[in-house]
Amino acid sequence: MKTAAAMIHNFNAGPSVLPKEVFEQASGAVIDFNNTGLSILEIGHRTPLFQSVMDEARSLVKELMNLDDDHEVLFLHGGATTQFMQVPMNLLNENELAAYTDTGTWAIKAIKEAKLFGHVEIAGSSKETNYTSIPKELSISPTAVYLHITTNETIAGTQWKDLPYNCGVPLVADMSSDILSRVLDYNKFDIIYAGAQKNMGAAGVNLVVVNKNVLGKVARVLPTILDYRNHIKEGSMLNTPPVFAVYVAMLTLRWLKNLGGVATIEKLNNAKAELFYSTLDSLPIFKGIVAKEDRSYMNAVFVMNDPALEKEFLDLCKQEGMIGIKGHRSVGGFRVSMYNALQYESVVALTDLMKGFAKKKG
Ligand SMILES: *Cc1c(COP(=O)(O)O)cnc(C)c1O
Repeated sequence: MKTAAAMIHNFNAGPSVLPKEVFEQASGAVIDFNNTGLSILEIGHRTPLFQSVMDEARSLVKELMNLDDDHEVLFLHGGATTQFMQVPMNLLNENELAAYTDTGTWAIKAIKEAKLFGHVEIAGSSKETNYTSIPKELSISPTAVYLHITTNETIAGTQWKDLPYNCGVPLVADMSSDILSRVLDYNKFDIIYAGAQKNMGAAGVNLVVVNKNVLGKVARVLPTILDYRNHIKEGSMLNTPPVFAVYVAMLTLRWLKNLGGVATIEKLNNAKAELFYSTLDSLPIFKGIVAKEDRSYMNAVFVMNDPALEKEFLDLCKQEGMIGIKGHRSVGGFRVSMYNALQYESVVALTDLMKGFAKKKG
């Protein structure tokens, strides 16, 4: 976003940058929604006004992901963290087994919740590499009810490139930090969930895509609000949805469609990541810590060979309007998030700064 003072380059990991036009449209709707004289914040969720927002948001997801009729689109409360427990609650019986891959912080949280509902086996782990890679060999029991993966590990900076589509059991994915960033065979997933605040909107809403054929198989009694079937039946309007967050997600989805859809954004994301990583690899002062083939195109994690220089570089970034670059507290170093709405120009500005800094220090 441009401010009066200077260009800000927002590399935040989440909540994160959104398209400028989404900010403009959303702020306009807070004052006057679609020339109704009403704010989006004061309209009833059961009005035709909001119904059309929800309908458009759901159908944009279907269209952008090319989903078939078995896949239902829901916008729910509670963030991805709620899905860590809602998935096993809806899919896994107490005496059954679910397979999980352990790729770091977010997977560990998902595994912890699944264990509350049934048995968990670790089908693959990158713990031995301190989560700097993605497991290549999976071992999944044929009796597993599903396989869970985190397609992009936001904190470790790893991303699945070769997806386990043919794992032989239903596939569940936490896509919070790379949803709609690349072309995938979205129909091969039985559940996809993602908090909106990284790649598709504001905080406060969660996208859940469910293949209805995997539901209705658990013996336990499900609380009404946690049963996906009730949300499907009510058209994602079982209770008051997070109206404004759904609206911002709809605007962001519309922006993505107008841009050309997922194939177009994938090309743009590849260009940003390629520029970033080729710069990183060309400057010995910096060091990528993730296995090259598993590097995330959304979150680049790296350090400096001389940690004493890190603060100086961070200060320089701040001075140049580049924010959100400090690494996660559990990893240290730096993390540069390059989500869909981040402009290529921002990566140019950052890589120029890295080159200048390396020259000065080299
Ligand atoms: C941010 C994040 C979450 C947590 O999302 P909340 O909306 O805060 O619950 C879960 N998984 C991944 C991969 C994330 O990046």
